[in-house]
Amino acid sequence: MPIDADTEKFIKVIALKNSVEHDGKAQVDAVIAKFIGSKPELRSQIKALIPEIKAMVHEINAISVADQKLLLEELAPGETAAKKRTEQQLQLPQLEGAVHGKVVTRFPPEPNGYPHIGHAKAAIIDEEYAHLYAGRLILRFDDTNPLKEKLEYYDAIAEGLEWLGVKPDIVKNTSDDIDLLHNYGRKLIELDGAYVCTCSQNTIHDLRGKGLPCECRQDPAIALERVEKMFGDLYDQNEAIVRFKGDMADQNTAMRDPALFRIIEGEHPKLGNKVRVWPTYDFAAPIEDSIDGVTHALRTKEYELRNALYFAILERLKLRKPHLIEFSRLEFEGIPVSKRKIRPLIDNGTIKSWDDPRLPTLAAFRKRGFVPEAIRKFVLSLGFTLAETKPPFEALEAFNRKIIDPISPRLFFVKNPAEVRVQGAREMEVMLKNHPTDATLGTRKVKAGDLLYISGDDAANLKVGTEIRLIELFNIKITGVDLRNGALSIAAKVGDDEIRQSMPKVQWIAKNDIVEYKVLIPKELYIGEEYNTNSLEIARGFAESFVSRLKPDARVQFVRFGFCRIDDDQTAIMTHR
Ligand SMILES: [Zn+2]
Repeated sequence: MPIDADTEKFIKVIALKNSVEHDGKAQVDAVIAKFIGSKPELRSQIKALIPEIKAMVHEINAISVADQKLLLEELAPGETAAKKRTEQQLQLPQLEGAVHGKVVTRFPPEPNGYPHIGHAKAAIIDEEYAHLYAGRLILRFDDTNPLKEKLEYYDAIAEGLEWLGVKPDIVKNTSDDIDLLHNYGRKLIELDGAYVCTCSQNTIHDLRGKGLPCECRQDPAIALERVEKMFGDLYDQNEAIVRFKGDMADQNTAMRDPALFRIIEGEHPKLGNKVRVWPTYDFAAPIEDSIDGVTHALRTKEYELRNALYFAILERLKLRKPHLIEFSRLEFEGIPVSKRKIRPLIDNGTIKSWDDPRLPTLAAFRKRGFVPEAIRKFVLSLGFTLAETKPPFEALEAFNRKIIDPISPRLFFVKNPAEVRVQGAREMEVMLKNHPTDATLGTRKVKAGDLLYISGDDAANLKVGTEIRLIELFNIKITGVDLRNGALSIAAKVGDDEIRQSMPKVQWIAKNDIVEYKVLIPKELYIGEEYNTNSLEIARGFAESFVSRLKPDARVQFVRFGFCRIDDDQTAIMTHR
């Protein structure tokens, strides 16, 4: 059947997109489905078109991916953005056994704290994989320890993900399935795959070290007798636990009869005091993954030794086994994510809140002025390495700078101001551009006269005779440098108007345009194992009055100082240089 040029081009674009998304091999069925979906009016002719479509797909699949991309760009320049996204996704390796449309991933944070950059990495990778395979992402609050979990943290995690732009398809709690988990626990004991142990913690510890079983393990009849007592809530806290029947002499210590259930007295944020017997992560994770339909469970490398246990539990219960994939944890040098290092600083009041800009929490990144898109790009740029290296914080900064540089107005801020009296300067009105290349960010009018301020650091470098350029104003020649009341005071006269490369070019604030201002500069929270007592520098000085017109959350670049997020009308927080 003859096919018109427009239809042919339309089909080619669909086939090329499909092929670029699938490592250079377009799938005929997918192309046909997409075509029918987009042009329902041609449905009646589809039978006649199929041979044509097949021929086109065949032709396209015969050329290289690079050529396919070029051809796609030529035929449909509008697809460039979509193509870029595909390329970004391809930085992640293919998932073993993944079937397009059937992949289910899950992000299972415990609601026991504020989400941090490590959570962001996991959630983003989980979501990217779900999208890559047109699958689904489950957000599962792994809430099986009432002593550690709070409603506040469920909310903080949900808010953090929303800010990141991670959109789960399903949201659930492990605690929703508590009855089911209890049933699987009973069943595992009945199958002789677990037992109730009433030994003391010390005994268990000792025997584990020696690789020896305890008495509770030996007789399945005892286990069956105790199972009713355990799940019937008749034991006291610390009186009994359920242990997996592994191998007490296993080289892998994670298999030496680990705890699967323990009794915890405490008010659970979702279930109150209704439940006392709580599964451990080791038991809940494989069961939940399996019954939730998770096909690919991604978790950090620190769980590697527990993979054997994960599969052994599913094996004994005859439950479907997901693929387990490990990736490396993410944290930055000097900014630990561990609660052990952060919690005490919060508890003793050194750090007032979880969004303190020195912390690696998502709330802190937000408060500091990072954009979520930068975090996603950064995480994906790391790829899928298993190496436990800490990437430099500057790498994340670079992604963020690239995004905010074009949209941040340039303003002047002078730290530790030094006054400059300029002899012979007439009062004048200057129009300053808010951005060097983007006129849409507007201009501001500043009245400058013979009294100005520059930063103390710049002033400290001046000597009589030095010539400097006051940016977008005029040159001045220094005629005197004095120290008055601990602050430098500069005398100068107006120089010529030629901007010479050798001149220092400094930002300034006019006398009538001053706002007292401070910028919080977050530094490394820890130096080695020690809390850095200088982790929050406060730079005080003057900003241009224009800054008061910016609302909280606005971004700004203080020239020769750094990018900042406006916090309130007298404070900004430095994002990065
Ligand atoms: Zn025991």
